[in-house]
Amino acid sequence: MTTIDPWGAVKIDNYSKLFDEFGISRFDELLVKIKNPHRYMRRNVIFGHRSYESVLDAMLSGKPFAAMSGFMPSGQVHLGHKMVMEEIIWHQQQGGDAFLAIADMEAHSVRGKSWKECDTLGKDYILSAFALGFEPGEHGHIYFQSKSAQVKDLSFELGIKTNFSELSAIYGFNGETNIAHMVSAVTQSADILQPQLKEFGGPKPVVIPVGADQDPHIRLTRGLADKMNMFHVFPGPPRHPNFKGMINIYSKSPTSDTMKTENEFNILKNRLLQEKIVSKAGIKFDDTEDSMNCYTGHIEIACIKSSPEELLPKVQESTRAVALELGGYAFMPPASTYHKFMTGLYGGKMSSSVPDSFIGLTEEPQAGAKKVMHAMTGGRVTLQEQQKLGGEPEKCSVYELLLFHLVDDDNELVEVYKDCEGGTRVCGNCKKYAAGLMEEFLRCHQKKRELAKEKLAGLGF
Ligand code: SF4
Repeated sequence: MTTIDPWGAVKIDNYSKLFDEFGISRFDELLVKIKNPHRYMRRNVIFGHRSYESVLDAMLSGKPFAAMSGFMPSGQVHLGHKMVMEEIIWHQQQGGDAFLAIADMEAHSVRGKSWKECDTLGKDYILSAFALGFEPGEHGHIYFQSKSAQVKDLSFELGIKTNFSELSAIYGFNGETNIAHMVSAVTQSADILQPQLKEFGGPKPVVIPVGADQDPHIRLTRGLADKMNMFHVFPGPPRHPNFKGMINIYSKSPTSDTMKTENEFNILKNRLLQEKIVSKAGIKFDDTEDSMNCYTGHIEIACIKSSPEELLPKVQESTRAVALELGGYAFMPPASTYHKFMTGLYGGKMSSSVPDSFIGLTEEPQAGAKKVMHAMTGGRVTLQEQQKLGGEPEKCSVYELLLFHLVDDDNELVEVYKDCEGGTRVCGNCKKYAAGLMEEFLRCHQKKRELAKEKLAGLGF
């Protein structure tokens, strides 16, 4: 019996290295907890994540969370960008704050785009985000990097914690790399951490939807989030047979002033011991329950009654609150989701520098449809072969368009897959169908872009 795998175009086997070597977790394991999963989640297009549980927990319990992504305005906005925009918008619709950065500093320093071009292209991205459903306002933030003092200030601070060796290991920078390029790399980390600044409500889980190639950047930013923090809380093995475990709080004070560190610890200890905070966190410290000792630069909590897993989030929350009171950042490590790349219309990778490899969201609808008609399929050489052997949807860029963008109904997609594999669907008709859907989508999207111009004007860029 043939196994029906309608998401076959999204084989994740090639990504298994990411799971094994880089500690990216499988996304499908979380799916059962998500109430209204986006079609990229249902269809395995989003295949991996880092600490997305934190975002999901906040989403399910009505606590604050955010989603953010940046777009470099160096070329036409296309279907690849649409994927990321849709993921941000979905999170906004689930109650999160949405952040959309136009990475004009990067486009200017790395791609040599003039500020004027960055402005024009950046606005094009924003119009498409609006047309796809992004809602600006209290819970929808859009900005150009070059115009955000907060992002620039934060990137300067992050720069203190980043060195050339780290950046060259991640981005291959060398002696020829200009300084502005390096600044733009740190600015991206500032974009990612900005939603956690107090101006936006303080520390919270934030998800960054990215392609797998962006993971080094996520790792850099998660490391920076940790380096910027005043206190570091983590569990440890029990030091006594009666203990269930330990929770350690260390300080890496932004200053090397020992007295300041000690004072911070005294404040933290007092704070943790204050009745109202303790009861709020549900922690009781005495000899029969959990106990706490404070040393220079180190607080140690022995978990006697409570389990470390139970205590850890409560201690983390209290510690974050103290760090904020002391003027620290208390960043949570940003979460990420990883989606599969779209392949180019003629095979290979979709690339902004190869216009025929992608369909632009501002492209003339008929021209977009024509590109679909010329796209690479997973069909056989002759009709007879197709009928006998069936097509190969997992190798077909037309099927990928249906799967990623053009068909909302999962059942319909299952039928397409089945018919293709069974040889009853022929490529000519299938392409015509997809081309019609693409033309319709582009026409409708472009109408919405026109209507969104008023919203854009309202942003005052
Ligand atoms: S029938 Fe459709 S899905 Fe199947 S290979 Fe041809 S174009 Fe692709």
